[in-house]
Amino acid sequence: MIRQRSISLRLTIWFSAVFFAGLALFGGVMWFTLENTLTNGRSRTLERRVERLGELLRDTRQYTPEERAAKFQAFADATGGGLIEVFRRNGARALPSPTSAAQAFPWPHVDSTDRSRFSEITYLGQPYRVLAQPFATGSEMLMLCVAAPLEGNRLVLRTFSAGLLWTVPVLLVLSALGGYILSRRALRPVDQITAATRLITLSNLSERLPVPETHDELQRLSETCNDMLARLDSAVNEIKRFTADASHEFRNPVSFMRTTAELALRNRQIDAESRRAFEDIVAECGKANRLLKDMLTLARADAGNSQLAFEPVDLAAVVRAVCQKARVVAGEHGHTLAFQVAEECEATVWGDYPSLHRLLWTLIDNAVKYTPAPGTIRVSVTAASGAVVLAVQDNGIGISGADMPHIFERFYRADPSRSQVEGSGLGLSIALWIANTHGASLSVQSQENAGTIFRVVFPPLPSERHRAEAFAAAG
Ligand code: ADP
Repeated sequence: MIRQRSISLRLTIWFSAVFFAGLALFGGVMWFTLENTLTNGRSRTLERRVERLGELLRDTRQYTPEERAAKFQAFADATGGGLIEVFRRNGARALPSPTSAAQAFPWPHVDSTDRSRFSEITYLGQPYRVLAQPFATGSEMLMLCVAAPLEGNRLVLRTFSAGLLWTVPVLLVLSALGGYILSRRALRPVDQITAATRLITLSNLSERLPVPETHDELQRLSETCNDMLARLDSAVNEIKRFTADASHEFRNPVSFMRTTAELALRNRQIDAESRRAFEDIVAECGKANRLLKDMLTLARADAGNSQLAFEPVDLAAVVRAVCQKARVVAGEHGHTLAFQVAEECEATVWGDYPSLHRLLWTLIDNAVKYTPAPGTIRVSVTAASGAVVLAVQDNGIGISGADMPHIFERFYRADPSRSQVEGSGLGLSIALWIANTHGASLSVQSQENAGTIFRVVFPPLPSERHRAEAFAAAG
């Protein structure tokens, strides 16, 4: 699952992780800055209040204690909450408490304090900021204490945190979605290149990948792949040309050797050993000739110049013609060959008669070769929903599951047959190519030691118009 993650998903995860870290850092810094600013604001208010209280104490130095207390009470009433006290060094109040709240408030111990000191105190579940500041008046040292609730600050911070908690996930989801959509869009050409590359095989090497006009790495990648395809195409074409030329050129010397050996065999005076040698040469030349013919057929097919002549062909006629010849060969191997063309079967297909002949011959020849005597080979032609089905069935050695995926590959021969039965491994490759050029499918069903059935399903005969178009396309 993890291995299949796309680049877009990885980019989105990275982008979201970095974005989240950035947001968390930003939120944290903002929270601490806000907290600091609010606390400092509260501290400055307390400092100003203490300063004004000091001025009041100085201004009322000459007043009677009652007058001074009244002034102090008025000052406390004017500074919200009235949380204010003036203590002596020994902790006793120098002025009466202005409010019951100030009297009950848990003021910090002030006896040893000789400099300003801020503290935070929780009273009745509420946090307070408290400033205690020494104040000299004549010979006496007083301690001025003021307090202010921090609940307002806490509320602001809580609102800010709640805002962060809502906005961060929403921003994160939006940015992840946006990032994913953008990266998918940016990488879409990669998917197109991948899909197009998957479709390129040896048979369509001349095709090229789409080149996105993005002037970036993707465009360079497509152009580089196309250059590579061009090089591969030309190399493969060279190999195909070489195979075709070599197969063609070899046929003359092989024919010459065969003819020479056959001429030598006509001489009755040659000894028995030389005769056997010449007979072997004739047989091997025959095999080599068949192999070269098959190679030339495939090389021409690869090069696209097979020169097939398509026309309406009665498949029943092909079956009769091939089976008549094949019956003799099957009989020589001790087999029975039966063929059946369904009555009322419209078996006309659009094809090349010699190729169809060859296709059927290959399938019957294999059935004969890979069936122990006495075997039964059945050839049939049926019509099903417009399509014509040609089937060749035997009760021979069958094909193993391991060999099945390879039997249509060039030069592939299943092991048990290789040593005993003559063949080159090109028959089914040619049969498949013939089926494909006819728009037909060639399939196989087999069970080891029970038998094999090959089916060729031809498409319905094309209309006159399609045939005319096909002729025109063939040039
Ligand atoms: P070959 O020249 O070896 O017959 P083909 O391309 O015609 O080459 O067939 C490839 C391989 O498929 C054969 O070597 C054989 O192992 C297997 N095969 C083909 N037809 C049959 C069949 N009717 N029964 C069993 N095996 C078969």
